[in-house]
Amino acid sequence: MTTTLEKPVDRPLPYFDDRLIYEKSRIGARAWRVPKNDVKSQPAASYLSGVALRKTPPVLPEVSELEVIRHYTNLSRLNYAISTTFYPLGSCTMKYNPVMNEVAVMLPGFREIHPLQDDNSVQGALALAKRVMDYLAEVTGLPGVTLHPCSGAQGELTALLVCKAYFEDRGENRHLVLIPDSAHGTNPASCAIAGLKPVPVKTGPDGLVDVDDFKSKITPDVACAMITNPNTLGLFESRIHEVAEALHKNGSFLYMDGANFNAIVGVARPGDFGVDMMHINLHKTFTQPHGGGGPGAGPICVCAALEPYLPVPRVVEDKDGYRLEEDAPKSIGRMRGYGMNFGVMVRSYAYMRRLGAEGTRRIAEFAVLNANYLRVKVGKHYAVPYDRICMHEFVASSKKQREKGVHTIDIAKRLIDYGYHPPTVYFPLVVNEAIMIEPTETESKDTLDRFVDAMAKIAQEAETNPELLLEAPVTTPVRRLDEVKAVKEPDLKFNCCVWEPT
Ligand SMILES: *Cc1c(COP(=O)(O)O)cnc(C)c1O
Repeated sequence: MTTTLEKPVDRPLPYFDDRLIYEKSRIGARAWRVPKNDVKSQPAASYLSGVALRKTPPVLPEVSELEVIRHYTNLSRLNYAISTTFYPLGSCTMKYNPVMNEVAVMLPGFREIHPLQDDNSVQGALALAKRVMDYLAEVTGLPGVTLHPCSGAQGELTALLVCKAYFEDRGENRHLVLIPDSAHGTNPASCAIAGLKPVPVKTGPDGLVDVDDFKSKITPDVACAMITNPNTLGLFESRIHEVAEALHKNGSFLYMDGANFNAIVGVARPGDFGVDMMHINLHKTFTQPHGGGGPGAGPICVCAALEPYLPVPRVVEDKDGYRLEEDAPKSIGRMRGYGMNFGVMVRSYAYMRRLGAEGTRRIAEFAVLNANYLRVKVGKHYAVPYDRICMHEFVASSKKQREKGVHTIDIAKRLIDYGYHPPTVYFPLVVNEAIMIEPTETESKDTLDRFVDAMAKIAQEAETNPELLLEAPVTTPVRRLDEVKAVKEPDLKFNCCVWEPT
């Protein structure tokens, strides 16, 4: 019987210098110095007004070039990233970001342009944007596309505003939006920001939208429904066309939260199963480094009836080439400063072109295969509440382990000791002690098998040493945090740096 939780690998922890860069500061240390000014200078006060001027110099650390490089390189090594480890964060589609995308986005013709340049001088960039739009229209089966939204959540908001504008244009005042209770929190939040009211719909015992409950909530005030498909349990909403039909009969629209598009891209077109509008998280399905807060993009695709309301400026192609069109009387206006997060479009376009039609389909096929492989293997050690063929992800639960006093959070923290970024936990809310696992299409069988081994070992530890699992992680510079306190009272050690004028 061990008395402390063992490190999974019997190796000494690497020494980690956890001093802040301020604590490493030495007065007078510099990376490099600019030459002495030999031009007549004027005090800053002659250019700036009083409020813009500091009373005291900023508190900046003073370190050499090598020290600064080491400091940030070592910090970056504490990060989990797709390029360092398997990252099965459910719902987030943390897929491999091909290096080729970065080569494309660094081409000077893309990197060095400015959004205020004349259309004639950026024809290639506009052509690329138009091709991304055409590709998205093709894979979704929805003809109207805007590249404006910077995220999935902003795509939701844009689509809701478009839908609202449509009804206002017809003199209708519809304000209700049906949303299943398994939905991502951004769905009701987007509704609230758009000035609409979310109406929750139940999930049935099969993990799918309860269609009877759904239909009973359709009233003349319903503008649209927001449905995630595949849903957040990783299950395909097989009665989606029935839901769409009921909405359309009522003159309402069906919005699809397309965050899980990775599971069906190239296989099924949402426009074909009754969807009228959807967002695509380019940073999920179409590869984009994400997880640190962006940049991403959440373009939306809509049916022809909603197209006139899309934001401006729009990329259009006519006989003279490409241009950004501002003139669209029914448009909801702008959703952002300029037309799109352009670098994101370049990366996604490189990815789309590399894969082609055949490769696009294979994204979905392999993502689904990988998820089902893990569902069966992980299911030998953990409960899987909706245990049937899933799409690109599945939701396990630590129900069995809870009997021993071990919770999902403990399992997630222990995975860090085994070198993995934990899966999404406690989401969706409809599953107790949820562990949501999404292995994307590029993961090999070897990687998946090793992950299963780690999950099995943790299940074993929960049996034999449950109290000790509550201590995990044991291999990280910082151990278990009180997560609520860490958010409310972050201890960032700022007090340590007192600036002393030299
Ligand atoms: C990621 C996600 C969103 C939000 O997308 P962002 O790009 O993070 O704003 C919405 N719904 C679901 C189901 C998601 O997984």
